[in-house]
Amino acid sequence: MTIEPFDAVDVIRSKRDGGVVPEPALRWMVDAYTRGYVSDAQMASFAMAVFQRGMERDEIRVLTDAMIASGERMTFASLGKKTVDKHSTGGVGDKITLPLAPLVAVFGVAVPQLSGRGLGHTGGTLDKLESIPGWRAALSNEEMFEQMKGDVGAVICAAGSGLAPADKKLYALRDVTGTVEAIPLIASSIMSKKIAEGTDALVLDVKFGSGAFMQDIDRARELARTMVALGTDSGVATTALLTDMNVPLGLAIGNANEVRESVEILAGGGPADVRELTLALAQEMLALAGQPDADVEAALDDGRAMDSWKAMIRAQDGDPDAALPTARETHVVTATADGVMTRLDALPFGIAAWRLGAGRARAEDPVIHEAGIDLHVKPGDRVVAGQPLFTLSAADEARFPRALQALEDAWELGESAPQTAPLVRERITA
Ligand code: URA
Repeated sequence: MTIEPFDAVDVIRSKRDGGVVPEPALRWMVDAYTRGYVSDAQMASFAMAVFQRGMERDEIRVLTDAMIASGERMTFASLGKKTVDKHSTGGVGDKITLPLAPLVAVFGVAVPQLSGRGLGHTGGTLDKLESIPGWRAALSNEEMFEQMKGDVGAVICAAGSGLAPADKKLYALRDVTGTVEAIPLIASSIMSKKIAEGTDALVLDVKFGSGAFMQDIDRARELARTMVALGTDSGVATTALLTDMNVPLGLAIGNANEVRESVEILAGGGPADVRELTLALAQEMLALAGQPDADVEAALDDGRAMDSWKAMIRAQDGDPDAALPTARETHVVTATADGVMTRLDALPFGIAAWRLGAGRARAEDPVIHEAGIDLHVKPGDRVVAGQPLFTLSAADEARFPRALQALEDAWELGESAPQTAPLVRERITA
């Protein structure tokens, strides 16, 4: 029997009382939890202590490093290209990865976009792409490497189970113990996976507002600064944009409809906010790859980004020209009076789309690709009584009542246009 060098109870007590956990003890705690020696109950208690007491910058660095060390570390050093990735902290209608990865690849930069599935009201990139007939999320490391090395350049695929397994276990535990929203835990969770993935550079889209993890911009800024510091300290060039998630992004919330909207963006059209954020993030990514003057607008408008998208989808066995699924049942919400849309709250729209079947309540549930919501108006738009405001789509009309209940207080018609604020609020650098 091996003698363990530390005692979980001592580590928990130390953090509970506001102490700084010494590096060897913190590394041991993560390793022993991954091995199953430290129990879920002990780790949950430790996570709650971190939630209450926080962590110092150096503790967060050690925690991140310990989670990286729990699994494999990928490297793209022999690729002969710069690699740049993007991570969004998640929101409602956030489909930006879909047009962004092929757009950046147009400029000869490789994009290793390891993505996840949605849980709760925020959608997952893989769920959206799986609405495309034939498209395959699971790639081997060799397939991923070949796709990045060749003409395609961009890969969006599922993160393998070998990447930061400690985080996988800890995140599932946090999800059921009320300890998700702790900045040291979120930052180490996200950055352990991104650093282990081996990207040269990383742009973070840190969202604030009703549809985001962080409701207020101050907490989002603190999260962004923590993650930028972690990336920089590990040799990954990292910047972050703080972006508004009080209103759903674009007009489509769901899966297949978000792919449709992404294709509109790749064709040079689409909603202004989705285009603006796609361009802003592409510029950041290309600046980190040494191309600050890349003309990303031209690549969207002249068809190069669309060609890159089609090549990326085909490389993973998808048919980019195939029809996407459409819903059997729809329900249209209309304006009850003339007025201006003054408020359209992201969170209830995310919850309504989830209840329609676009999201999953348990990790093992399937999503219904054609379910979701299409908005016909955004804040500031003038409407007349009877005009369609939103169309809800589902496979079964029994889904509509609970979705409509979520939307009861989600929007408001008023007399005059609301004040608008910029979508990209701040840029955080090392
Ligand atoms: N996404 C992650 O990967 N981890 C978190 O803790 C939160 C969001």
